[in-house]
Amino acid sequence: MKQNLTNAINKARQAKVHVARFNEGAYVITTAENHRYTVRFERREGVRYGRCNCAAGVRFIPCRHLVKAAFVDSALTGYPMEA
Ligand SMILES: [Zn+2]
Repeated sequence: MKQNLTNAINKARQAKVHVARFNEGAYVITTAENHRYTVRFERREGVRYGRCNCAAGVRFIPCRHLVKAAFVDSALTGYPMEA
């Protein structure tokens, strides 16, 4: 799981995707191939959980969309990126 996340972060650094804030805790990701995915975050007892609706995300595999959205969410909310 930790390795998956590291891979996803590395992929996200290279990925040309666009992140737009959809509403509170939700982001729309548009990829270079013009695919659109929605990433939603929720906080349970102060811990952030994110979920993407792409093929990887629905199987709880960390994907580059989730990571990109997390960077933006962290920038907006000040939530630490490590969590
Ligand atoms: Zn995804």
